[in-house]
Amino acid sequence: MLLEVRELSVAYGKAVALENVSLEVRAGEFVAVLGPNGAGKSTLLKAISRAQPSSGTLRFRGESLQPLPAHAVVGKGICHCPEGRRLFPELTVIKNLMLGAWLRSDRAAVEADLDQVHRLFPVLKERGAQVVGTLSGGQQQMVAIGRALMGRPALLLLDEPSVGIAHRLKVEIFDAIKRIQANGTAILMAEQDAQSALRVADRVYVLEHGQVGRSGSSAELGSDDYIRQAYLGVN
Ligand code: ATP
Repeated sequence: MLLEVRELSVAYGKAVALENVSLEVRAGEFVAVLGPNGAGKSTLLKAISRAQPSSGTLRFRGESLQPLPAHAVVGKGICHCPEGRRLFPELTVIKNLMLGAWLRSDRAAVEADLDQVHRLFPVLKERGAQVVGTLSGGQQQMVAIGRALMGRPALLLLDEPSVGIAHRLKVEIFDAIKRIQANGTAILMAEQDAQSALRVADRVYVLEHGQVGRSGSSAELGSDDYIRQAYLGVN
């Protein structure tokens, strides 16, 4: 077991955003959290990366994350690629990517990881000297994923990687995420696009109003009548 979340709750003042959420991610697994706007998906990922205080159990490789500050969670092998990308638009592609490796001193391995990011997203090599603010939305998302990979995560948290991106680039990005998994990185991805999530993930949890409802393999949920009607638009 890589990540274990038990009875996780988050409140913003009086508003409950997550209520007793339990889920798990095994080593090398690709897990998606599906749910509509405001369901609590971003809050869940922020709680796991300790950017958001929470109550309940968070264990990574058996060790509690709750006592740790966010930067220590990165050191444990969890990198978060947040919604809205949070890049530095005035800095170049290469500088943004290297910011993902700021905690690391293993220079040769950092170079090898940069090569891997360039193989995943060749356009980032071509555009290395370009300032990020002038890239397309899809290319910026590639930089954001690449920056998270530069932390060499065992678990990559991805918050809605396809939001606001043209269909062609979306397919490219999801295929790249599958290749990241094939290279041995586990993935926990929040996503609203049910069709894409069910296509690429091994297992899916459905989050609605801060609580986990259905969960199961992508094949199981893809043939579930409720999921087909509510998320896939099939009558
Ligand atoms: P989206 O897909 O729209 O990003 P989400 O599933 O990621 O939605 P969250 O962003 O986690 O949902 O939000 C869950 C709930 O918590 C929402 O009702 C939201 O308005 C609320 N919320 C999120 N962040 C804050 C905050 N900083 N302060 C107060 N309420 C918040």
